[in-house]
Amino acid sequence: MSCLTEDDRIPPEPPTYWVHGTWLTAPITAQRLPLYGCRVSGWREAIPVEVSAVLKPRRETDPLTDPKPFHDALVAWFRKNGRDYPWRRTRDPYAVLVSEVMLQQTQIATVLGKGYYTRFLEAFPDAATLAAADDDSLLKAWEGLGYYRRARMLRDTSRALVEKHGGRFPKDVAGLLELPGVGRYTAGALRAFAFGKPAVLVDGNVSRVLSRLTDFKEPVDDSAGIRRIWELAGILADDRHPREYHSALMELGQTFCRTGAPDCLNCPVARFCATRRPESLPVKQRKSSLTDITEHALWLRDGEGRLLLHQETGKRRTGLWKLPLRDAAEISTRPLIAEHRYGITRYRVMLRVHQGDDSHFTLGEGDSWIEPMAIPGLAMAAPFRKVIERLIEDF
Ligand code: SF4
Repeated sequence: MSCLTEDDRIPPEPPTYWVHGTWLTAPITAQRLPLYGCRVSGWREAIPVEVSAVLKPRRETDPLTDPKPFHDALVAWFRKNGRDYPWRRTRDPYAVLVSEVMLQQTQIATVLGKGYYTRFLEAFPDAATLAAADDDSLLKAWEGLGYYRRARMLRDTSRALVEKHGGRFPKDVAGLLELPGVGRYTAGALRAFAFGKPAVLVDGNVSRVLSRLTDFKEPVDDSAGIRRIWELAGILADDRHPREYHSALMELGQTFCRTGAPDCLNCPVARFCATRRPESLPVKQRKSSLTDITEHALWLRDGEGRLLLHQETGKRRTGLWKLPLRDAAEISTRPLIAEHRYGITRYRVMLRVHQGDDSHFTLGEGDSWIEPMAIPGLAMAAPFRKVIERLIEDF
């Protein structure tokens, strides 16, 4: 394999290239191909049959030594093309915090598409309201977003704001970091997005973009890599336009500089980007694999049609309702009436629901008979909600 040169056979226009399993008609002329540093492994007639790297312009300017042109290009692109999210329209640090916590483990499309963000802010419009919320209403408002610990942590943050700061957010990094649940990413996000102050923040998207921009070939997720990426983020940060710059960098990671094969030919900062093999970055440590587990749940209704449910008391999901779980040995021989697969943290769970009978009825701590009409109002993890909605009419 070799880099294409002026002496190589030039494909006819419009040039079409075989890139990562698909034919790509690139918006570049054949004569300019050498500038893109593409490598070819063979030819079919006058056309390269495989380009082994994403087509990408070569870097012209190093943003680490001369960041202003990079800032200007990124911010100009964002001003014209940035997406309009509700949290980008507000300067209220509480609303920004809610969006940041929701987006920590949930995709933008889910948070927006299902109205979680708006509904949550309607239910709890400020830190004082959230600080006073009880478990049931909090979990109900968070239902469907998963990772319920985040909701409780958000309430802890609100309580600390009310108790120690009269409900107002501190603006300095040290003050923000003292709030429970606020780490350096969230502190940076509040500084940039709510207060428009200079900030440093790195999330998964930013880490990927920075590793490619600077051609950082070490793992980004071990302690040395994390330290270096934060350092690079600090060197590159645009203190003149913190709000737009950080939004732009994140959005670049969601669009052009996406995971896998990025769209470098159309990237607004391609001329500042060092990597020649963007699809190989970022480097990550080997991931721990998922563990398969099976849960056996009991489906049992009494003579009045009430369903036996269990309210959790453990650390992670306290207050959430679900079907009571039993040992496999106890109920796995009972008729299987539903199966549902779901994932949580590093577990891949197969939930099996068995039809119970009176012999399985022992009311344990947290178990209650619940009227079907009351079920929609209970806070419940999504997998159990789905199974119950599927079964409630027929069983
Ligand atoms: S920043 Fe990402 S999308 Fe842009 S040129 Fe570099 S690798 Fe490609």
